[in-house]
Amino acid sequence: METTIAAARATYDVVVVGLGIMGASTLDQLARRGLKVLGIEARGPLNDLGSSHGETRIFRRAYWEGDHYVPLLNRSYAGWMELDDAVHDSIAVKTGGLFVGPPESKLVHGSRGTALRCGIPHEYLDAGEISRRFPAFHVQDDAVAVYEPDALMLFAERARLSYLSRATRAGADLVHGRAVRSLRPSTGGSLTVVGDGWQVSCGAVVLAVGGWIGGFLPEIDALVTPMRIPVYEFDLAEPCERDHLPGRFPVFLFEDAAGALVYGLPQWQAVGGGLKIGFHNRQLSPVDPGGDRSPPTDAERLELWRAVETLLPGVRSTGRGRSCVYTMSRDESFFIGQSREVPGVTYVSACSGHGFKFAPGIGEVLAHLAIDGRSPVDVSAFGLERAVSTGAGITGR
Ligand SMILES: Cc1cc2nc3c(=O)[nH]c(=O)nc-3n(C[C@H](O)[C@H](O)[C@H](O)COP(=O)(O)OP(=O)(O)OC[C@H]3O[C@@H](n4cnc5c(N)ncnc54)[C@H](O)[C@@H]3O)c2cc1C
Repeated sequence: METTIAAARATYDVVVVGLGIMGASTLDQLARRGLKVLGIEARGPLNDLGSSHGETRIFRRAYWEGDHYVPLLNRSYAGWMELDDAVHDSIAVKTGGLFVGPPESKLVHGSRGTALRCGIPHEYLDAGEISRRFPAFHVQDDAVAVYEPDALMLFAERARLSYLSRATRAGADLVHGRAVRSLRPSTGGSLTVVGDGWQVSCGAVVLAVGGWIGGFLPEIDALVTPMRIPVYEFDLAEPCERDHLPGRFPVFLFEDAAGALVYGLPQWQAVGGGLKIGFHNRQLSPVDPGGDRSPPTDAERLELWRAVETLLPGVRSTGRGRSCVYTMSRDESFFIGQSREVPGVTYVSACSGHGFKFAPGIGEVLAHLAIDGRSPVDVSAFGLERAVSTGAGITGR
């Protein structure tokens, strides 16, 4: 239940620090296993300072980023379906996913390769077929696409709140508005979680603090960089244009000839928004994790508009937009593991702008690591070691 720090118990099996989507999913996993758990979040239940707020996110499995993500994606797909069935609200809608670009682009080539090798249902479409099936998209004659029919649009805030409320129903305690300042190893292998004028003791900690991780774990500090990234809202030029609704308008990624990646999600009246569109790998600038949330500049808007005006001639800018934070590693992959410097601490960070879809799988992994040190999925590809051996880290934050 939601509680105050004064009313929290003195000791827990596990404390989850940070209740973005990763912390919320982990707390749900731990509580439903019957553990005595506390979730602590520095800010309110609804805040836009982390990376998990807002209406919608994309889920896809034909992962151009690499086959090594697929085991976690498969578990996460099952997890989203389970959550969607279990709660009253809709959490996931099967919109299908369209990944468009030149045939040899990293997006199309990579998505198709992963789909073929990992047995993910998909179709390979030429330009004529893209226009026939998805009339809102105007592509060049040589464009091709991978279409993944099972790709989802996730309702982000709803999913996070559903995890938290299910965790509390299973017995978890929740405290909002209290920042954890430090984690101290205690005698007998337990840990003390310390805030301003309070502390609780526990057997293990899961750190899911996104871009704030470096303040807790020096071993990661130099390897992650929080980055501001703008996101834009579009309307339709014709208000009742059905080509832009789910069914005819899948979630999409588009790679242009210069390698820029644009993502987008359909209009979804139930959450009150227009189409959400943004660059995935451009317009990034280093920022403090809780810092600059300035709206897109005119120059940023123009650059994004130039990338979408030919692809989606039926949309128009609303002028609305905001910025959010990606916590980046240099190889744009995650860090998941157990701290060598602070025993008893399991962590996730550097979700590099594509972590939301993995929350059910990562929550399960973190819960297992915290309980018995073993992951049900091989997550060795997401260890810190690769940053040391390949120079995947970022410095100069
Ligand atoms: C614009 C945008 C679009 C995106 N689109 C997609 C998408 O389509 N698909 C996808 O898979 N991913 C997407 N992502 C990425 C995804 O949203 C993130 O990877 C994910 O939300 C990261 O979640 P997190 O829980 O790790 O971090 P966060 O959401 O940042 O949560 C960390 C929490 O820790 C709390 N905290 C920090 N310090 C402390 C402390 N000392 N004590 C207590 N609490 C603390 C913070 O307040 C915060 O609530 C997108 C991201 C953005 C910004």
